[in-house]
Amino acid sequence: MGPDAIPLSKPDVGPLELEMVGEVLRSGRLAIGPMTERFEKLVATRAGCTHGIAVSSGTCGLHLLMQALGIGLGDEVITTPLSFIASANPILYVGARPVFVDVCPRTLNMDPDQLEHAISPRTRAIVGVEAFGNPAHMDAYAQIAAKHEIPMIEDSCEALGTSHKGRPCGSFGRAGVFGFYPNKQITTGEGGMIVTDDSYLADMCKSLRNQGRDVFPDSASEGQKLGSWLQHPRVGYNYRMDEMSAALGLAQMRRFDEMMQKRERVARLYIQRLSGIESLVLPTIEPESTMTWFVFVVRLTTDYTVEDRDRIVEGLRMHDVGSATYFPCIHLQPAYRERFGFKPGDFPIAESISNRTIALPFYNDLTEREIDLIAQTLEVMISRQNLSRS
Ligand SMILES: *Cc1c(COP(=O)(O)O)cnc(C)c1O
Repeated sequence: MGPDAIPLSKPDVGPLELEMVGEVLRSGRLAIGPMTERFEKLVATRAGCTHGIAVSSGTCGLHLLMQALGIGLGDEVITTPLSFIASANPILYVGARPVFVDVCPRTLNMDPDQLEHAISPRTRAIVGVEAFGNPAHMDAYAQIAAKHEIPMIEDSCEALGTSHKGRPCGSFGRAGVFGFYPNKQITTGEGGMIVTDDSYLADMCKSLRNQGRDVFPDSASEGQKLGSWLQHPRVGYNYRMDEMSAALGLAQMRRFDEMMQKRERVARLYIQRLSGIESLVLPTIEPESTMTWFVFVVRLTTDYTVEDRDRIVEGLRMHDVGSATYFPCIHLQPAYRERFGFKPGDFPIAESISNRTIALPFYNDLTEREIDLIAQTLEVMISRQNLSRS
């Protein structure tokens, strides 16, 4: 891809972000400070939750929840095979076994009926994922989890600001996790956040992210806090978010509505421009869901092979259009196949979809002219004539 290429994604960082990160740098307080607390409050409020616990990545957030829920060796955790690998890796970090459930071909999220059949006496949690930010079925997962008295964790790393049946994503399960890598709806560079209404879980996660130190109520004296700084009742991690990242996130949250309107505009332009193309399946959003659009992913019809798709993505990139094959199935990743004996055909719907998806450039200030150029290039690349020539 050349210097004038249209990238796959691009963060939306403006003067407010520069000002607020600068404020932290000038203050001299670079870690454990007021920006993190303010950022936590804003994200938790947006997700309709009482507590927000900022961490150094979405992956760390999921890991802390596994640990805080006491999940470990011999336990099973149910999740989707059609996601970024970080949805499932935290299950392995604590020694548990991932149990995958095939997806619904319309929403691309785990099929609730199959999910219920996958529950065994060893199941200790369900990790529900909003694939590409689509919040469908989150209510169904929460209901199944409640019925079987196991926690549902919502991996909402692609879904900040979305809602389903009037309820904000992140709030469906016992706890939710957001991710703030630069390609997400908002960014802190690296970063993530756990949100929950469960005070025990919130305190446990706060302790575990901070080397296992005790968590004090707001009323505790500075002396109490300082006195316990080198006391570690449990083995924790350093998964804290720094103040520069939190300031960046805080600025992004203040611009949240404006930024999500821009994303909505880009998605609508794509849908208008691409909806006439017969060999493409566009994202389906349920009428009871709202989207903030993590990415814009289209799918080739079933007459295209995985090789066709790979050639199309390569062709797009050669013509300076950023694109990616979001996502290869997790169960077929080398790290999972060998360890758990998964094979092609285990989750046929997820595999078939994964083989035919293409993520197109998606960011807030993508212009109508660029979208038209992307669509034209895509039309050329998917034409049968072009594919048989290469
Ligand atoms: C991005 C993402 C994560 C991980 O977030 P990081 O901040 O990159 O660790 C987890 N799950 C899903 C579904 C994601 O898209």
